[in-house]
Amino acid sequence: MLKQIVPNKLCLSCDVCCRFLDKNALLAPLFLPHEITPKIKHHLGKSCRVKLKPWQDMHACYFFNAKNNKCTIYSKRPFDCQLYPFTIMFDEKREKIVLGIDKKCPFSAIPEMGNSIKNYFHYLVDLLEKKEIATLVARNPSFIGDFQSDVIQFSYLGALTKLIINNPEKSGFRQISLKDKDIFDRFFKKIKEPDSSQNFVNLYIWKDKNPVWWKKKGRDKDLEILLETDYGYVDFNSLKKFPDYIYLRESLAELKGNKYKHKRASCNYFSKNYKFQYLPYKQLMKKDCLKLFSRWAFERKKKFPDLYFHKLLEDSNSSHKLAIENFKPLGLTGRVVKIKGKISAYTFGFEITKDMFCVLLEICNLKFKGISEFIFREFSKEMTQYKRINCMDDSGLENLRISKLSYHQVDTSDNVKSVNLVTSPSRCDQNRN
Ligand code: SF4
Ligand code: SF4
Repeated sequence: MLKQIVPNKLCLSCDVCCRFLDKNALLAPLFLPHEITPKIKHHLGKSCRVKLKPWQDMHACYFFNAKNNKCTIYSKRPFDCQLYPFTIMFDEKREKIVLGIDKKCPFSAIPEMGNSIKNYFHYLVDLLEKKEIATLVARNPSFIGDFQSDVIQFSYLGALTKLIINNPEKSGFRQISLKDKDIFDRFFKKIKEPDSSQNFVNLYIWKDKNPVWWKKKGRDKDLEILLETDYGYVDFNSLKKFPDYIYLRESLAELKGNKYKHKRASCNYFSKNYKFQYLPYKQLMKKDCLKLFSRWAFERKKKFPDLYFHKLLEDSNSSHKLAIENFKPLGLTGRVVKIKGKISAYTFGFEITKDMFCVLLEICNLKFKGISEFIFREFSKEMTQYKRINCMDDSGLENLRISKLSYHQVDTSDNVKSVNLVTSPSRCDQNRN
């Protein structure tokens, strides 16, 4: 139920709402699917608009009680009626969807209500820009009215405009699903030196944050890929991305020499002080891994106050869930460390090219000193068929940068071209702060 701003007293003495000139009025109240109860269904026309009944020389909503000027289903009246006199409509050029107030409502003309109306507009915009509400309205496009000159426009509704006007579905794009993995794999295989973002796995696990739309282009297994972002649909190939961190696998596995003495010491400390098991990930470990992620994210938030980082952590939650739940179809390799039978670290990765393995996720219970260095080294030790390990980018975050630089890259000048917009703070090295 929306908060109401028009005073009851005014409505009860007004004859604008609930009555229509035409029997088939296009603006008769519209019920959204979840608002239709069996009792109401009976009184709806074809397009889920209320059937109108004759009233004086006009027509009134079936649920209107002419004797007392009241709505007989007031507490269950549709969103359409709750919203009025505010209305969602196309702008004159049908390029945008806007929120406005109908000048026919006498409330819109009360000068002293100016500020309250403005505040209420802000309340409605916040609500209508919410993804679930925008999606609900977009699924019922008849809710959006045509341009009316007697509606005072207040604000552009970005989320709805994106869904209704710029919707890539209209141009043949569809959203990514697990079934599309082979098509994407074939497409990315053509790239000689792909970066960590140019693969199905990364696109898929971040799809809740940045929905991925794609369609085939030409005959040459080419794909057009769009990412849905807060700023609209963006061509995947045109994204500005951060460089990947790439290391020699052998160096990470051996941790030889002075430059790795601290990492070696951490691994040794862990091996000597804890009774652990290093095991392949199995699907029955899913719940415990996700629990570990929640605890880890909570601790990270406490340690790093950066709000951008907090937002990334929240986005990471669904990406970890998608990766862990679908680790088989995504072709991931997973390992866990158990201490006293409890999962205390997990890591997942996948093959980017025949000689490069990407460490996609790593989460550790950091109360066990040296655990992140240990799981990273063990994982690197195992991946003997790969020459290089890609630990993705640093999302532009200083703490991640420092942490990733604490391992020594293959050749940083080569890595700079490497990219990734859809970044995760839950990358392996994030644990090593
Ligand atoms: S037009 Fe405005 S004041 Fe009149 S009944 Fe409708 S909402 Fe109330
Ligand atoms: S459902 Fe109620 S508020 Fe809406 S038009 Fe009918 S009588 Fe008026």
